[in-house]
Amino acid sequence: MKKVEPFTSNPLVPNSKKYWCYRCKAHNSFDHIVNSNGTETHQKMSCVRCEASMFLPSQIIPWTVGTLGFSLIAVVIGLGLGGDGFLVSLGLAACSGLIGLSMLYYMILWRGWVRAQRAKPPEQLLREGKQYVSSFEGMQK
Ligand SMILES: [Zn+2]
Repeated sequence: MKKVEPFTSNPLVPNSKKYWCYRCKAHNSFDHIVNSNGTETHQKMSCVRCEASMFLPSQIIPWTVGTLGFSLIAVVIGLGLGGDGFLVSLGLAACSGLIGLSMLYYMILWRGWVRAQRAKPPEQLLREGKQYVSSFEGMQK
């Protein structure tokens, strides 16, 4: 029989430096999947529970600001160029803006979860975390 490990890392305690699954709303373990087709390498942190792509909350904030900022600059430059240049930069702005907005969406989910988890007393978090982990261990059998 496997020895019960001490409950050191609670997946339900927010930690912006740990990968987080927006679907499960937990710091689950993940499979690091690397797809390479020769020219491009695509990495995915796949949640072990739902296979959704996980992200590092501490990384998503600069990315959100960066992509949305880039969109804004592209629009401003486009306005200066006028004509076709405006259309091209508008296209760039739309692409980058969409990425930025989806990241913003994840960031809002993360922030909401952090607020909800912090509002709970530590004993409740610990209890819920233990239940969460054992429910998954039950699923795997
Ligand atoms: Zn998940």
